[in-house]
Amino acid sequence: MTENKGSCLCGAVSFVTAGRLRGVVNCHCGQCRQFHGHFAAYTAIHRDAVTIADPNDQLGWYDSSPGVRRGFCRQCGSSLFWDRQDSELLRIAAGCISAPTGLTTEGHIYMADAGDYYRLQDELPKRQQGLKSPLIE
Ligand SMILES: [Zn+2]
Ligand SMILES: [Zn+2]
Repeated sequence: MTENKGSCLCGAVSFVTAGRLRGVVNCHCGQCRQFHGHFAAYTAIHRDAVTIADPNDQLGWYDSSPGVRRGFCRQCGSSLFWDRQDSELLRIAAGCISAPTGLTTEGHIYMADAGDYYRLQDELPKRQQGLKSPLIE
């Protein structure tokens, strides 16, 4: 079975995933841009397939909107997870996963909220809002 490993920058919080990770989706919403410092690149997998190791209790959770929390390392500040209560998937920041990840980026969401300081130059599908919203361009 495919296995991926990852951690925050300092290594206090690490995780292992069992099974195939979803392709990476870049989220341009204002919350992701603030939380990550730029747009977010999230992969995802069923929450039961993720084993988190946090021996020193450094994984913090910020409730960013109703039913949604974002996981981060209290020690180094790395952004790690996006966790929506009513979803079976746990989103994992792709940048925290060790190479080779085997992942590719599949598209962009929340382009309506994208920052005004960058321009995308790829041909990947772009959506105004979430994954179920219509494509743009
Ligand atoms: Zn850390
Ligand atoms: Zn977002």
